[in-house]
Amino acid sequence: MVNKENYYGILKETEELAVGLIAVSKFKSIEDIQMLYDLGHRDFGENYVQELVEKQKALPKDIRWHFIGNLQRNKVKDIAPFIHLIHGVDSFRLFKEINKQGLRQERSIDCLLQIHIAEEETKFGMDEKELVEFFQFYETGLSDLKNVRIKGLMGMSTFTEDKDQVREEFKRLKTIYKFTKNSYFIGKDYFQEISMGMSGDYKIALEEGSTLIRVGSLIFGNR
Ligand SMILES: *Cc1c(COP(=O)(O)O)cnc(C)c1O
Repeated sequence: MVNKENYYGILKETEELAVGLIAVSKFKSIEDIQMLYDLGHRDFGENYVQELVEKQKALPKDIRWHFIGNLQRNKVKDIAPFIHLIHGVDSFRLFKEINKQGLRQERSIDCLLQIHIAEEETKFGMDEKELVEFFQFYETGLSDLKNVRIKGLMGMSTFTEDKDQVREEFKRLKTIYKFTKNSYFIGKDYFQEISMGMSGDYKIALEEGSTLIRVGSLIFGNR
């Protein structure tokens, strides 16, 4: 089921701010996705490779698929032909594999680096030190990395009722974003995305400068 009232409400909020809305359709049926597609929506997010590949085959080819989960290196090849944006890049090894598969597909694959901003250890992403290390590899390997492009950063806040904590975590991601842009992407207009905010915290994320929100349950109902 698609909750049209919620969908149009969130769409209006994002359009006013020129922010992208990704409808997170994991565990949801082809029919549900098709229903939202028929309302005009084109950006969908999934976080399991096999599920994504099956849905991609079955659904219209102009859907922009976002991979928002933890991506294993040996699965990159399965999504490389069609993926629009990979949100969860958290190591240079994964990044290099995306480049390799992009080369094989004769395309450039866009991705976001995932930053660990939550307190839960179970959440993925790089801390500041790992990010700096990533860019040491990146800058030395740049001439060989022609089939992958870093468009920005992604983060997930702690699952908590404490709105101030969530806001602080989003502020931190914004700070890391600015640092990264000023350190490594001066004059590179494509580095412009901050993917943060889900059903429970997207309003705070919008206030803190998100450019892409990833909303599932508010649009499709609980999983
Ligand atoms: C599931 C998921 C979402 C959407 O979560 P909701 O709370 O249903 O909006 C967003 N981002 C990631 C990385 C997810 O795994």
